[in-house]
Amino acid sequence: MKSAIAIFAHPDDAELTCFGTLALLHSLDYRIIVAIVTDGLEAVNGNDVADRIEEAEEASRMMGFRLIRGRLPDGDLHFGNTLIKRVEGWFAEFEPAIIITHYLDPDHVDHQDHFVLAHAVLNVAQRRPEYDLLLEAEPSRGSRSFAPNLFVNVSRFAAQKRAAIACHKSQIHKHYFRPEHVDLRSRWWAEASGAREICGEDGVAIEAFRIVRSSIMSEAAAFGFRRGERA
Ligand SMILES: [Zn+2]
Repeated sequence: MKSAIAIFAHPDDAELTCFGTLALLHSLDYRIIVAIVTDGLEAVNGNDVADRIEEAEEASRMMGFRLIRGRLPDGDLHFGNTLIKRVEGWFAEFEPAIIITHYLDPDHVDHQDHFVLAHAVLNVAQRRPEYDLLLEAEPSRGSRSFAPNLFVNVSRFAAQKRAAIACHKSQIHKHYFRPEHVDLRSRWWAEASGAREICGEDGVAIEAFRIVRSSIMSEAAAFGFRRGERA
């Protein structure tokens, strides 16, 4: 069985950006690992972190994914040996065929943990030839510079994605958790990719990515992946 790993800084990052795509891969018999590098303690203002972890575990459990934790400090990730070793350890343990992580935002306006982690994942992945596909996900809060070249039709999994996002009750007040925000981003990419017709009443139909490296484009096409015009 092939594995796909989503490596993100915080509980909820993967749910917002790529849970539909992970569900699609799961339906194609991939084992799915969701790795959260921090426990997201900063976002609960120092309160009990157990609730935040339970939210993430519930979201992954309902999808049939496995959640793993890096337990590094939220808001204070550093590019260096500790983070690199954590990522290398996961790659060695799970031997993922597909890797999804944050967008390496060149403007550095995304969360500081996001681009530090993207930097580390890309660094480690560059030294490993054996995976098939490395993707950067659209930032959940949007981005001025993100230019996707892969659009995944996740309309079959829209309800599951919504339910997984809703598990994060401690974060639901944030504007980018609102269904209309998630829908708007999906509809925007539907227009941009020429796939307007697949965005029906339920707008969570498309997830957008930037392909960093791929060795399986013919196979990727079979997943329902759609190449964008902007390379
Ligand atoms: Zn985050």
